[in-house]
Amino acid sequence: MNIQTIIKQSIKRLELEGKLLTPDFYAEAFCKEAAKAGYNVEDCTKLDKFKLMLNKDLQEELKKYHTKTISEFSHFLISKLNRTIPSHCSNLLESQIQFTKRVLQTIEVLHNKEASELSIKCFDLLSREPSPAEIDQYRQLWVNFLTTYDDTFLQNLKPLGDVDSKDLKKTIENLNIQNLPIGKSETFELSKVASLLVASLVPSIASDVNEKIADISQKIQKDPSLLESSTIENDIKSAIFLRIALDKQSVKEMIESIDGVLDKLSLRLIEMIESSDSSTVEIQKIKKELESYNESSSSSTNFAHAHKKLYTIAIALEENTQALTKDLKKHSSEVGILSKKIEHLEQELARAREESKEDFLTKLFNKRALEEFMNIKEAEFERYEKNFTVVFFDLDHFKAVNDTYGHDAGDAVLVAFSKILKKDARNVDIVGRYGGEEFVAILSETDTDGGIVFAQKIRNKVKNARFMYKSNRIELSVSAGVSERKIHASLQSTMKAADEALYKAKDNGRDRVESK
Ligand code: GH3
Ligand code: MG
Ligand code: MG
Repeated sequence: MNIQTIIKQSIKRLELEGKLLTPDFYAEAFCKEAAKAGYNVEDCTKLDKFKLMLNKDLQEELKKYHTKTISEFSHFLISKLNRTIPSHCSNLLESQIQFTKRVLQTIEVLHNKEASELSIKCFDLLSREPSPAEIDQYRQLWVNFLTTYDDTFLQNLKPLGDVDSKDLKKTIENLNIQNLPIGKSETFELSKVASLLVASLVPSIASDVNEKIADISQKIQKDPSLLESSTIENDIKSAIFLRIALDKQSVKEMIESIDGVLDKLSLRLIEMIESSDSSTVEIQKIKKELESYNESSSSSTNFAHAHKKLYTIAIALEENTQALTKDLKKHSSEVGILSKKIEHLEQELARAREESKEDFLTKLFNKRALEEFMNIKEAEFERYEKNFTVVFFDLDHFKAVNDTYGHDAGDAVLVAFSKILKKDARNVDIVGRYGGEEFVAILSETDTDGGIVFAQKIRNKVKNARFMYKSNRIELSVSAGVSERKIHASLQSTMKAADEALYKAKDNGRDRVESK
């Protein structure tokens, strides 16, 4: 392989790895391809040689950075050099300390007691070499100062002129004390204090106005000069304590009532979950949240926490209830549609059953169809004197077949018999199952003798047939009663005669054909 091929392969490799054709990437790829082709390129081993020149510690440190190129290696060395200039470091530190000291001196002269005290302490701290822990401690004190700093006192000056919280000097210059009624500035101060005091006495959380507090508030408001008397001081103090106690009590009551609501809510939710087949993951989540709340609420009575939880639960509950209701509505309408369909299908089925002319087991005509055909035959007889003969068949001792071999065997025998009957009847004849193990044949243009021939043929076939059911041979015989329409007064009497003939066959020992 020549150098041209290695170059081509290197570019291909970069393409495959999705890298840009930068000198560094190219050098890396080239070295890999060259090594693959068995070339020992001096430039490719340069980096490793340089690395070996470093002391052991630096070599270890370098491993962490996985430097692959000369340029990365150079970066490592440069950062190492920058960090290790001791004079540079201490110069920077020194100038930072000086800078901080000036800032602290500036804060000290500003008119804030807390800030200037903290500044003096920090100034001292920086004058001796503090430990990192000490610095951190004072850093935290400044954070506290910033988070609790309150300049709302400026707002109390509003009645006296324009207040600019960014510019205290200008604010004070603009105050218009001269406009106050002469000689009454002291009273004004007092009345201001009085109203502030009254405002702070009003319970901020408790809803009830306590009589004692109301009483003292009224007194001070009416006559601010009362504040100067020493007797009222104790009254004010105890009123303030009372106010704090009242607020505490209300917070406690509120938390208790929220706990009550939460308890009820959790019970209700659990009921809901238990009664619902589709307890969704979301509901389970709320349940868990409620459980976790119940655990934490007993230990910490945190009002804000309770409020937040309650709110989250309420929202989640609302969303879930909405989803459930929607689901329920959708399902109930689906169920409605389905039940209508079922109703419709049932009606169809009932009508189909009524209209059906086929016996479900043997597929021969059923009793309904047979009766219809007989009516037609009767009409033809009355109009055209077309004679017909009715043959009633009844299988002998059929109950015994069921009892011995089972109902399924009985069914199989009924089907087998109906096939014999169907096969031997003519096209114009009508055969059907009248019920149970009773069959009827309506033979067109046939008299009693013809009927007897037909019945005997069937009887013989049944007698000689092998009714097999699950390797059991079932012995079977059939009795028949024959009756011809022409020799009877009506269809009814013909049928009755056929039935009586059948009974006669049974009486005479079965496996027989009788006529009447
Ligand atoms: P006989 O010789 O007097 O006619 O006696 P038999 O046992 O045949 O008459 P019986 O009327 O006492 O019994 C008729 C039996 O036919 C009882 C009944 O369970 C059975 N059977 C009726 N319909 C069916 C059916 O569809 N399938 C089956 N397997 N058996 C049926
Ligand atoms: Mg019977
Ligand atoms: Mg029978």
